[in-house]
Amino acid sequence: MSSNNSGFSFYESVERIFDKAAAITKHPAGLLKQIRVCNSVYKMHFPVKIDGEVQVIEAYRVQHSHHKTPCKGGIRYSSAVDQDEVMALASLMTYKCAIMDVPFGGAKGGIKISPRDYTPDQLERITRRYATELIKKNFIGPAVDVPAPDYGTGPREMAWILDTYVTFNPQNIDAAGCVTGKPITQGGVRGRTEATGRGVFFGTREFCNNADDMKALGLTPGIAGKTVVVQGLGNVGYHAAYFFQQGGAKIIGLAEYEGAIYDPTGKGFDVDDVVRHRKETGSILNYPGATNIVKSSDALELECDILIPAALERVIHAENAPRVKAKIIAEAANGPLTPEADDIFNEKGIIVIPDVYLNAGGVTVSYFEWIKNLSHIRFGRMDKRYHEYSYRNMIETVEKMTGKNLSEREIAMLTRGADEEDIVNSGLEESMVSAFVGIHETWKKHEQCKDLRTAAFIVAIEKVATAYLELGIFP
Ligand code: NAD
Repeated sequence: MSSNNSGFSFYESVERIFDKAAAITKHPAGLLKQIRVCNSVYKMHFPVKIDGEVQVIEAYRVQHSHHKTPCKGGIRYSSAVDQDEVMALASLMTYKCAIMDVPFGGAKGGIKISPRDYTPDQLERITRRYATELIKKNFIGPAVDVPAPDYGTGPREMAWILDTYVTFNPQNIDAAGCVTGKPITQGGVRGRTEATGRGVFFGTREFCNNADDMKALGLTPGIAGKTVVVQGLGNVGYHAAYFFQQGGAKIIGLAEYEGAIYDPTGKGFDVDDVVRHRKETGSILNYPGATNIVKSSDALELECDILIPAALERVIHAENAPRVKAKIIAEAANGPLTPEADDIFNEKGIIVIPDVYLNAGGVTVSYFEWIKNLSHIRFGRMDKRYHEYSYRNMIETVEKMTGKNLSEREIAMLTRGADEEDIVNSGLEESMVSAFVGIHETWKKHEQCKDLRTAAFIVAIEKVATAYLELGIFP
């Protein structure tokens, strides 16, 4: 099957990368086939009454791999949802979880609707009915399959799913772990909303800190001063842009579906101010001092150091890839490049930091949320004060020994115990940094492995293969 912008469908393009990486791993064909295939595909249709008329809604849940359970993956609301897309996204989730050492199999869900066409009340009915269909077929549950937000969904939808699940499973004490990305008051974890964008920042920073790799691109190490263009100012794009700005990068281009803006001064936008402008005027265009780019996708071709596509898949393809001028492409969205574009960038020596690693911050913090739900306690609750008292005792001892006293402000800073957000952010940073080390080492180790995407897939295949081999199914 092929689809717009490419000779490969989205799912075929994931399979293509898998095959490229699998050939380097040398595992037996049967094992590789089992890793590659989607284990369960559930396509459903259900009726929902909208404005007095019955609409038949098409939806999906795909569990790509049961090598570890529960399965895990977001739910997308988009009119472009189809089986191929959900299978591709579910496959990516398996590899993503393996790369990040998150002990889940991959899954993904999708409802073929444009959320903008429905009122919140109608969206709630659609979401609750979808959750009911998943419950009927045992496609959701803290030990079975745990959805999360994705394109077009957020904490609100996750709360509706949780409430529906609890209604059908009132005896399940772990019910809160049936879905992640929930509001904090409903068992969510602090730091989840911004986790994917924050992870995009950590992952790109790790690449940019390597002096040799940056020299090969003609760039200096570090994020500070780098020029950045971001496509999509939703959950992932907004937070990625925000953390790059905090890290000292210059956000010189921002694109939304209605158009894009470019900063001709090169100083970089204040991302929050652009978001405020868009909320107030209904459009990103006409931001004071910015140059309008009426055809939004032209922003992808702006001169910059780092291009961050953070909207949807297949936005860079054979036709526009040759005009992309960025030196690093940080894939915040899932599948933003077609295989043809990927080939063009590899040939040109443009670095692509792949989605399968770079946007894994969301699932990593979802894993923390699930652990919080199963343990029924917020991170930091038991030890925050204990650590504060220990640090204070230590400082008092040092003060006595040296005869020098610290100010109250210094003491408060040095004795602060970690709260939930600190622990989550630190766990996320640790996960992104250590996963990058594994991918980077693999990239340098295999002569046939020419790019970071293939390296990331090799890492993933090795880990899933090991899990299968240790189950004893394969000789
Ligand atoms: P979102 O719905 O919050 O935001 C997407 C944004 O992209 C919206 O603001 C939308 O208006 C904009 N957009 C749509 N079409 C566009 C176009 N043609 N040009 C420019 N902007 C456009 O979705 P999200 O959760 O931020 O997801 C974005 C991508 O990141 C998706 O590929 C998703 O699969 C991936 N992702 C999300 C998460 C997560 O935690 N939310 C985790 C991993 C990967």
